[in-house]
Amino acid sequence: MVKPETNPLGLTFTNRFTRDLPADPIAENTRRQVHGACFSRVDPTPTAAPQLIAHSHEVAELLGISADDVASEAFAEMFNGNLVTGDMDPYAMCYGGHQFGNWAGQLGDGRAIALGEVLAPDGSHQTLQLKGSGPTPYSRGADGRAVLRSSIREFLCSEAMFHLGVPTTRALSLTLSGDEVMRDMFYDGRSAFEHGAVVCRVAPSFLRFGSFQLFPARGDADTLRTLVEWTIRTDFAHLDAPVDGPIPNETITEWFAEVCRTTADLMVHWMRVGFVHGVMNTDNLSILGLTIDYGPYGWLEGFDPEWTPNTTDAGRRRYRYGNQPSIAHWNLVQLANAIAPLYAPDDESGLSDEEIEAAFREQVAPLQDAVDSFATRFDAGWNEMMAERLGFVAIADGDNELFGELGRVLQLVETDMTIFHRRLADVDAANAATLDDVSLVEPISDAWYVKPSDEQLSEMATWLRSWSARVVAEERADGDRAANRIAQMHAINPKYVLRNWMAQLAIDRSDAGDHDGVTELLELLRRPYDEQPEHEDQFFVKRPEWARERAGCSMLSCSS
Ligand code: AMP
Ligand code: MG
Repeated sequence: MVKPETNPLGLTFTNRFTRDLPADPIAENTRRQVHGACFSRVDPTPTAAPQLIAHSHEVAELLGISADDVASEAFAEMFNGNLVTGDMDPYAMCYGGHQFGNWAGQLGDGRAIALGEVLAPDGSHQTLQLKGSGPTPYSRGADGRAVLRSSIREFLCSEAMFHLGVPTTRALSLTLSGDEVMRDMFYDGRSAFEHGAVVCRVAPSFLRFGSFQLFPARGDADTLRTLVEWTIRTDFAHLDAPVDGPIPNETITEWFAEVCRTTADLMVHWMRVGFVHGVMNTDNLSILGLTIDYGPYGWLEGFDPEWTPNTTDAGRRRYRYGNQPSIAHWNLVQLANAIAPLYAPDDESGLSDEEIEAAFREQVAPLQDAVDSFATRFDAGWNEMMAERLGFVAIADGDNELFGELGRVLQLVETDMTIFHRRLADVDAANAATLDDVSLVEPISDAWYVKPSDEQLSEMATWLRSWSARVVAEERADGDRAANRIAQMHAINPKYVLRNWMAQLAIDRSDAGDHDGVTELLELLRRPYDEQPEHEDQFFVKRPEWARERAGCSMLSCSS
């Protein structure tokens, strides 16, 4: 069959990644180690019966795809990998990474194939990547497919995060492939067929920390430099690197410092909304500071810094909620180590080993400074975020103790983090000094999973009184403050997040052929900060008892 020249949706493919960067010279789609290349060209494997289940109209708009085009057969075909046209240049990326703290060597896109990069109407470049569209040279022992349940989770969570204001890769479409995929969901030998699905993910870049780690791990400083310089010139054009010739170390350092900042900011967001990624391996951290690779992630319900959603992580809890900022920092150290070889002294002739070593240390010192600045940036960002969510005008002396004490009080009995923060705005701060404990805590009492003892209740009341005194002092200074404060709190504390059991309810319905649950949740999560009273009885509620131990609601495996 002759490939059509251009895609039927009128997208403008620019394909800078594959145009500019070194390609794997082998064209065959066989599993192997790929050296000296940033990607392998590979076509998606056609699927049996593409069927569109859901799409994000905001992402379609971003790409300039009309509603009619979304409804066309070509759309489902294209974003299932069944329609590859001459203007696309499909490929899988080559990268490595640390998994659970250990260097894992080459990983790469084992089940993601980018169709190419398009120029969006707003002037941005967006890569369209199909997740679950068949094997690639990086599939190792796996099939390159994705199942419906994990695809629903990726589709919904990407868009939910976007609407929460959290940097993330986006999801254009969720399609059923019509193929059946074998999975051992519980890793207990009970494999079963599940519906196959494909999500089209969209981001300016899918480069990960691990993309930069693989080359130096193999002693290939040339490809490392090519990729770093290309990344700086394309995705970090605002750094104004010289168009030709080598990019100076200062600019590389600026780039790395920016990665440290955006990563720190991302951690603040995750902590705010209660998102636990679950697999913060270095191949799952985006160079753009986006949330990427939605796998066994989960949302905190009861506030518990020790919680991890990932069964594979249950033993050491490396990726638990409270550990995410430290892990981000650890991952940045790995990225710094990866790019350090670029800082080797240019001319080593006539230098002793000690002199080379000293020169190198001096050169990489700014990288160390950038890594160190992560903690400062995260702490400042976290404190500001906490002040804002608690309704303060600005951070003040003593707030740190108040934040610390809140963390303790929220763990006296299991307390729903989202409900607590949303309902805090309803606490009668003005009368806190005179109200009795029970009346004072009443607005937040919905957040408790179990009834607190009198003593626990009174500890919460004590915290609420300190908090009230703090906001009332600011209100005394500014009469309009009270109303503004509540609006401020509602704008930063979401009412609706993608609770684990909510996704599971939609998955159960979809597995049975009713996909409306997915679109209903997408609609709800498009406005997470709005009251939406018609949905509160169903979704502004604590985790139901049935979900406590149910797979997919409490713990998830990587088997997706
Ligand atoms: P993840 O934990 O999802 O980031 O995946 C880690 C590595 O395993 C990446 O290289 C993935 O591309 C690869 N991988 C995960 N699932 C599959 C699959 N079903 N088929 C092929 N490769 C996969
Ligand atoms: Mg990954």
